[in-house]
This record gives sequence, C-alpha cells and structure tokens, in this order.
Amino acid sequence: TESTKTQSNGVNVKVVVRCRPTNEDERGQGTCVGDFTSRSLTITKPKNPPKTYHFDHVFSTGTTQSEFFDVAAKPIVDEVLAGYNCTIFAYGQTSTGKTYTMEGIKGTDASVVDVRAGIVPRSIHHIFSTLENNNAEYSVNVTCLELYNEELQDLLATEKKQLRIFDESSGRKGTKVSGLEEATVTNANQILTILDTAQKKRQNAETNMNKNSSRSHVVTSIVIHMKETTQEGEELMRIGKLNLVDLAGSENIGRSGAQNKRAKEAGVINQSLLTLGRVIKALTDHSTHVPYRESKLTRLLQDSLGGRTRTCIIATISPSIINFEETMSTLDYSYRAK
Ligand code: ADP
Ligand code: MG
Repeated sequence: TESTKTQSNGVNVKVVVRCRPTNEDERGQGTCVGDFTSRSLTITKPKNPPKTYHFDHVFSTGTTQSEFFDVAAKPIVDEVLAGYNCTIFAYGQTSTGKTYTMEGIKGTDASVVDVRAGIVPRSIHHIFSTLENNNAEYSVNVTCLELYNEELQDLLATEKKQLRIFDESSGRKGTKVSGLEEATVTNANQILTILDTAQKKRQNAETNMNKNSSRSHVVTSIVIHMKETTQEGEELMRIGKLNLVDLAGSENIGRSGAQNKRAKEAGVINQSLLTLGRVIKALTDHSTHVPYRESKLTRLLQDSLGGRTRTCIIATISPSIINFEETMSTLDYSYRAK
C-alpha cells in the first residue's frame, strides 16, 4: 500500500485533502468533485476526462473540525510528544479553508474549545492535557513568525526588529533566527492568548502596509522539552517540535509545480512555496541534493523536514466547478509530494 511505501522510504510525508462546503459565490454553479472515498476523489468537468487521485485520506465537505483533528493531526501531535520534529502544512488556493483548518473560529467562551476551533488550538489542548497527565517535568516554548516576500516578521515581538536566519553551529541540521521572540508557556490558555495577539498583529500589519494576506506564510512552532524519570531512576530527556504552517495561497503555482507565467509577469514570485514543493519532492525521491537553502521557509523548517521527522500536508480545495483548474493544480502539487 501507499503508506508502507512511504514508511520504507524512511521519509514520512502524509498528504490529506479537505474539501470545504460550497460558498455563496459558488452556489448554483455546479461541482467538479465527483466520487469521494476516504482515500480518493475524482475531479470532473464537461469536456475534460475525469481524473482520480489517491491520498492518505480524503475529507468531504461534512467533516467537522473535531473529526478532522482526530484523524489528520492528532497522530502527528502524538509523535511530537514522543520526541519527533513534525510539521503540518495547509496548502491550497485562497479561500479554500487553510486558515479555517489551522486556526478555525474562536468561540466567545475561552474556557471551552469551540466546535469550529482548528488544529492550532486543538493541538495545544492535546499537548497540555497529555503533559499534565504524564509523570514528567516539561517546558513549552512558542514562536510565531510571518514570511512575506521572503521577509520575516516576528509576530510575538512588541517592536519591529530585523530578523536573520543563520545555521546552527557544527553538525546540527537546523537553523536559528536571531532576535526572534520565544515565549515560555505553562498552560493552554496562556499560549492561546499569545497566539491570538500574534494573529491580530498580522492583520494590523496587513492593513497598514497594504499587504495581501493570501501571499504570506505564518509559521507557529511549539517546542516541548520533557524530562521523564524511569522506574529505575534513570532520567530521559525528549524534545519534540511541532510546526504549524498556514501557507500562502497556491493560485500562482501552475500545474507543473512552477510559477505560472501570469504570476511571473506580475512579479508575485513565491519562492518559498516553489521551493517547499521541490524540497518535499527531493526528500520523497531520495535525491542527494535537497534544496533547503533556496527559500526562507525551507531554511526555517530544515530540521523538521526529512530524516527522523513527520510531515502532513493538508491540501484544501473548493468543490466548485469555477475553481476546477486551481483544484487540479492543488491536487497535482500535493500528489507529487507523495
Ligand atoms: P484561506 O485561509 O484558504 O484563504 P479561509 O480559511 O479564510 O481560506 O476560508 C474561507 C471562508 O470559508 C471562511 O469564511 C471560512 O470560515 C470558510 N470555510 C473554510 N473551510 C470551511 C469548512 N470546512 N467549513 C465551513 N466553513 C469553511
Ligand atoms: Mg487564510
């Protein structure tokens, strides 16, 4: 099966698809998503041959946030708690539900998880309830940054600072960001409040600087240190890192996985989105050269992609026939990552 293929490759990349419900603009236009199973979907449009894709999981329009988290994200968060570096990406055309899937919608009562809450708050609650039930000492740190036109902005910082990515010293695979604010948190509500402020900062920066939010990536990283004492009195240290990435809109990436001509002419090159596709392809193909250094996003995530890590790509799509081309493009890009 496909999953044993990825296992034996040693590179663990799972790709799932989520189709959101039809929205107002699309109503009455017809759908391009034909047959659904839990592992495949068929895309059709009059005069085009139907195309069937297979993925690790396909979630239909009726999937709730809670079901989606349990199947797509919870196993990954459990790997983080076991000491792995893991990354969950939301990839897709603007308005297909990347932010809804990652952040979701906040309820008015902060003490309960809203039914519309997404992966970020659900992961945080899962992390803390697991840590609190374990017989282990732990500490949790969080960073949150935005990447726009290959420029970094710290969403936790109170003042604007120049951020620089540099390689970690000798032998380590990762990078560090100098000047990046790192918050130490002790419970779920604390981290959620911090991330809420970060989201607001992102929105303000966008309005003030005329940015287009569909072109920025937001990377939230949660690092967990766990110190366990075995029955024999031995101390075990585990470090896990969870990266939750709300990617820029994929509409400028063509079906070949390259920047399309229109985007090139308009100068809206999204180097990070292009390079991410190439890095994941190189990892699953076992290429000797993985082009991490060709974009800021892949440099930031270098220690969490490839090697002893887990990656989940969530491809978000619209069911409408008016988005047929973009949906194909999203499915082609995500499928190549397998
Ligand atoms: P993106 O981040 O990909 O641009 P959004 O997450 O902002 O897209 O989603 C666009 C709109 O569709 C939002 O109003 C969002 O609440 C809604 N939406 C997206 N996915 C779903 C879903 N699975 N169920 C219900 N509403 C959704
Ligand atoms: Mg969004």
